[in-house]
Amino acid sequence: MRLAAFTVDVDRDVNEPRAGTVESVCRRSSGPRYTSTRDGLELLVDMLGDLGIRGTFFFEGEAAERLSEDLDLRELMRGHEIAAHGYAHEDLTGESTGIVPSEEWLDAMIGRSLAAVESVFGVRPSGFRAPYQHLNGDVIRVLMMRGLRYDSTLFADVASGLRPYSLSGSLLEVPLAQGTDRSGRRIQSYLWAMHEGRRGPEDYLHLIGQHHDGLMVLADHSWHIAESLGGGPEEGRGGREIGKVRALLEKAMSSGVEFITIEDHFRAEEKG
Ligand SMILES: [Zn+2]
Repeated sequence: MRLAAFTVDVDRDVNEPRAGTVESVCRRSSGPRYTSTRDGLELLVDMLGDLGIRGTFFFEGEAAERLSEDLDLRELMRGHEIAAHGYAHEDLTGESTGIVPSEEWLDAMIGRSLAAVESVFGVRPSGFRAPYQHLNGDVIRVLMMRGLRYDSTLFADVASGLRPYSLSGSLLEVPLAQGTDRSGRRIQSYLWAMHEGRRGPEDYLHLIGQHHDGLMVLADHSWHIAESLGGGPEEGRGGREIGKVRALLEKAMSSGVEFITIEDHFRAEEKG
């Protein structure tokens, strides 16, 4: 059985780092906004329900709080795995902002992220994905001390196998995938390029076709369903983009891939 996880980062719309501030900002907006992420999330959950797929959702803490103000988020996400993705989508390493947090500050940010998700959903997340995929030894140490079971931030080559591995002590890395497309160009399992119109579902099917060992982790952003990086929200975009994701997942399933949550993958591994 070839196993895959469909994962979604639920964070502020078109987020990007800004030098001099640890928190993330949104393009085309002075403060954080969540309209595209909410619209995209509802479309994704609806589509996954239709296909009988349970996903793993990495929630920014502030996104979870804001979305739950006018949405029964706990009910919407029932059956899916809830994991964490920072509180205010912080650049935890300072790579883009120039602000390198101390370990105490990191612990406070990651603690707040976990507490916000737990308070909205009533479950303690066991997984984490670092905003902007910025991870270093200090962040890893804090994730481990906070008792997280896994991180899913880094890339691994599909050709070498996609098995979870130990990052530090009991903390596992559940890597995203990268490989090459038919023309030999690099492709990554984030659906970013598909929503920016640079790739189609068949490119990702080709990547999935190279997967035979471990767990293929696909990744998406809920805001990206409703809004592109350069173009902003656009009439009719949601239906079109959700159609691409649906086509990809349906074709993957008909090629023999089974979708499970990352937590369920661990449970299945433990049972042997
Ligand atoms: Zn993010």
